[in-house]
Amino acid sequence: MKIRNQLALGFLGVVLLQVITTAVSVWMDYRIIPVIATKAAEDTAKAIALSLVRQGDATRTPPLFADPVALQGYINDFKAVKKNSLTVVNRNKKIIGGVIPGDVGKMYAHDTNNQVGRTIRDGATRTFIEKSSEYPQGVHTIVVPLKMEQGRINGAVIMEYAPLLEEMAKEKTKKINVMLYLTVLCLLIGLGIAFFVSRSVAMPISRLKTAVERITQGDMDTPIAVKRADETGDLAKAFETMRAGMKDTLEKLQTEIADRKASAGQLEQRTEEIMQLNELGSMLQTCLNAEEAYDTVTRYAEKLFPGENGAVFQFKASRNLLEAVSLWDKSSSVDKAFLPEECLALRLGRVHRIDDANSGPLCPHIRKPESVGYSICIPMMAQGETIGVFHLEGEHTKAGRWEGAHNQWTTEKQQFAVAVAEHVSLALSNMKLRETLHNLSIRDPLTGLFNRRYMEESLERELLKARRYSRPLGVIMIDIDHFKRFNDTYGHEAGDQILRELGIFLQNHIRLTDIPCRYGGEEFTLILPEADITFTQQRAEQIRIGAAALRVSIQGQTLAEITISQGVAVFPGNGESGEELLRAADEALYRAKQQGRNHVVLAK
Ligand code: GH3
Ligand code: MG
Ligand code: MG
Repeated sequence: MKIRNQLALGFLGVVLLQVITTAVSVWMDYRIIPVIATKAAEDTAKAIALSLVRQGDATRTPPLFADPVALQGYINDFKAVKKNSLTVVNRNKKIIGGVIPGDVGKMYAHDTNNQVGRTIRDGATRTFIEKSSEYPQGVHTIVVPLKMEQGRINGAVIMEYAPLLEEMAKEKTKKINVMLYLTVLCLLIGLGIAFFVSRSVAMPISRLKTAVERITQGDMDTPIAVKRADETGDLAKAFETMRAGMKDTLEKLQTEIADRKASAGQLEQRTEEIMQLNELGSMLQTCLNAEEAYDTVTRYAEKLFPGENGAVFQFKASRNLLEAVSLWDKSSSVDKAFLPEECLALRLGRVHRIDDANSGPLCPHIRKPESVGYSICIPMMAQGETIGVFHLEGEHTKAGRWEGAHNQWTTEKQQFAVAVAEHVSLALSNMKLRETLHNLSIRDPLTGLFNRRYMEESLERELLKARRYSRPLGVIMIDIDHFKRFNDTYGHEAGDQILRELGIFLQNHIRLTDIPCRYGGEEFTLILPEADITFTQQRAEQIRIGAAALRVSIQGQTLAEITISQGVAVFPGNGESGEELLRAADEALYRAKQQGRNHVVLAK
């Protein structure tokens, strides 16, 4: 039950007690008033009776009851004072004096059970209700004997005591009224106190309850505003301290949870980055050449650094220029090439990172420094040699901080960029190594042309394509005329120089798709995909003329010109396999020699 109701009930109980007390008091009055009234009436009546029987000692005058005139005078005086009806009867119940003079001499007959007669007989006081035609409801009456000094009973005094009773009843009514007013007053005061106590106790407690309910529902921000100087105030203060403490703890917990979530998110991102890095590594492994590797790097860098523009710069062979080989650049702000001294990372020999364009010098190779907010250059190392620079730059943001698309640019992200750069440099240097090894295996070291093994493989491959697409393919076999003599004349060194120069000449006088190779000694083979007999013959003729015009000098000495003999064979006419074609071309070359050298001869 609510405190307010409990209080109200308590006060109602008190008021009820008050009402019961009043009722009991009234009930007691009802009981006591007739007793008191009767006793008072008895005393009065006895006093009257005594006065009436008393004789004067000195004069020996007769008692009042024996003198009718004096008796009537006494009664009249009594009535004037007391208002009570008074009747005196003699031993025979005959009225000898009374307030109604007309009754004197009559017999008293208003006592229903002869109470008067019985009192005259036994001397006992009696009360009865006098019934008469004037008072049909009856009048409270008392009868006392007129007892002489000698003990003889000479009559009786009959006195009405209703006025006294009425008087007392009136007082009783007044008392009841007063009690009623008091009760109402008590009720009102009780209610007032209940209201006051409810305000001072129940209301703060109710407010506290509301506040605690708010806290239970998760509202920790609203302070408990119950300001009182009593115990409820202390309780509220204690609750407020508790709320503030809980809010504090909750906030700390929330921060901690957020931190943990963030680090979980970072961890997830790291894992994702590591996966992407591994993927990049595997993809780079599958690349067949540098071009493919550059494309792969571009594709992955766009994914890995969505918020930044950047490029992989590689040293040109001369090492005096760096050229962008991979470029991811949405806003076309990254320069495509720069000099080594324009990169601070290359000059310092370590990572150069600028978090805020105002905080340090940006690399001079950055083309639009005004729009670049941050940048990083990572030197790319391979086998102890710097092969290039991995570069990233971000646009100037309001915050002026390193900010990627999804998170702030952090030391972790720098580490990630360094890891990517390492992967790329490793892949590129591997690629270079692989290419070098490959070249070594397929190129002739003296002329730089492909070697015979490579030529034979290439011929089979090209024949396959020619067959598949029904295209022709030309083969030219070249042999330097009287080269032995040349060697003998100028020396082996000069012979080598001729071979080198002729190699360059051949390289420069064929199409990109043609395959030039040194067949062995002073013999060369050209494979011309998609070339028919006419085209191949023309090409051989051009080469013959060009070779004859070659001027080679060594140590200031100009060597004699050379001539070459050539045999031409064409797929499909002169053979189906590489072997057949080469044999046909070789046979034609043999005939060219026979025809006096410096000739182009077609296979049969
Ligand atoms: P022919 O016109 O009949 O082809 O006469 P030739 O002298 O060119 O032919 P031969 O086969 O008799 O001699 C080939 C010479 O080529 C022998 C060798 O000294 C020379 N030769 C082969 N390989 C090299 C080389 O790598 N360097 C130099 N300097 N000479 C080479
Ligand atoms: Mg030869
Ligand atoms: Mg020769």
